[in-house]
Amino acid sequence: MFAAIAAAEADDGAGENEVLLLEKNEKLGKKLYITGKGRCNITNASDMEVLFSNVVTNAKFLYSAFYACDNQRVIDFFEKNGLNTKVERGNRVFPVSDHSSDVIATLQKVLKEKKVKVMLHTEVKSLLCENAFPPMEYITGVELMDGTRLPADKVIVATGGFSYQTTGSTGDGYRFARELGHTVTDIRPSLVPFYTVEPYVTQLQGLSLKNVEVRIYDGKKLLYDEFGEMLFTHFGVSGPLLLSASAALKPKFTEKKLSMTVDLKPALSEEQLDKRLLREFEEAKNKQFKNSIGGLFPAKMVPVMLELSGIEPEKKVNEITREERLSFVKLIKAFPMTLNGLRDFNEAIITKGGVKVKEVNPSTMESKLVKNLYFCGEVLDLDAMTGGYNLQIAWSTGYLAGNSAGQ
Ligand SMILES: Cc1cc2nc3c(=O)[nH]c(=O)nc-3n(C[C@H](O)[C@H](O)[C@H](O)COP(=O)(O)OP(=O)(O)OC[C@H]3O[C@@H](n4cnc5c(N)ncnc54)[C@H](O)[C@@H]3O)c2cc1C
Repeated sequence: MFAAIAAAEADDGAGENEVLLLEKNEKLGKKLYITGKGRCNITNASDMEVLFSNVVTNAKFLYSAFYACDNQRVIDFFEKNGLNTKVERGNRVFPVSDHSSDVIATLQKVLKEKKVKVMLHTEVKSLLCENAFPPMEYITGVELMDGTRLPADKVIVATGGFSYQTTGSTGDGYRFARELGHTVTDIRPSLVPFYTVEPYVTQLQGLSLKNVEVRIYDGKKLLYDEFGEMLFTHFGVSGPLLLSASAALKPKFTEKKLSMTVDLKPALSEEQLDKRLLREFEEAKNKQFKNSIGGLFPAKMVPVMLELSGIEPEKKVNEITREERLSFVKLIKAFPMTLNGLRDFNEAIITKGGVKVKEVNPSTMESKLVKNLYFCGEVLDLDAMTGGYNLQIAWSTGYLAGNSAGQ
């Protein structure tokens, strides 16, 4: 949508560009609709350095795109077209209305104003080229599922990734690109939960832990260490910390078993925590161990902590040995789990991998292999952390592709 608007706006000195937007769904923006839990985290208002540092893959490729259309330009576009925005925690930008549908409606309004012709229920089957034998050189249009051939001077592929496929992103663009000689790097789910091995993890399902520190190791090697929020599920672990970990870790690591520890009391050192335990035990000398730790964790964790502590639950706290207490402190500071791979594309917020960026001109988004063919958005081998950065990639590359094609 953003690329189509930019293409329609781009002035090549020969009058208005005629732009067709082909969408296979019955409506536009099905994925946009579910973004930000239905609120659409449009972009991130941090400065450029932060935008780049939140791009996980191929940040350098985005240099021209981010400068051609930065976050402020995106915000201005929506504000100018009647959508008020607000900035929340972490500089995340949302519509004031909290409705992603208003973002889509704004784009639709501008598409109409710019006279972009939108064709719904229109699925592209393949791209058409002149010189249909390698080297394929010029794009000449597209062929639809029903065999109709639509001629075009330029084609922009904005088909998205391979996740949440019910929204329409079924990876068609990867096929289009491959058919025309492009390389598509391995695609993998990202910003996605993890499976875990231990049965006690599923016992904790539904429990969310705030202000914890998660560390992930490959053997002894520390791969990830962040503070924040996590969630236990019926299959393993999720929540912001784990989604971010899935994006930050290299695919060679997410494919193998990794050990993870959760520091349940990151604000306290082991010594401070031990003192606190001692204090609690002294105040309730004759209490049984199982009845003395309720104040330390959410209720759902207590049975699991008792089990993992190895301390007899009925034991009186004044009979607990120093060794037992210190090993309990260690358990609280490093609650253990084993990660066993990522959940699949159906739950992945984004797709890692895509059309190889070395084969795309970063200043225009045009293919280096096929003239007049452009790529933008998640179909490219670009991905970022949560916080509005993935949509910023889509807006920036969409703007640059549309503007370049339009000119
Ligand atoms: C649950 C969820 C929440 C998210 N929340 C956020 C968020 O708050 N902030 C953020 O920055 N990012 C978020 N993202 C990521 C963001 O939505 C995507 O990165 C972004 O939508 C990618 O834009 P795109 O235009 O490249 O692809 P898409 O938005 O996937 O659009 C591709 C379009 O192409 C159409 N299409 C595909 N193939 C064909 C074909 N052959 N013919 C015709 N049409 C076709 C599809 O139907 C679809 O409408 C979220 C993703 C998910 C799944």
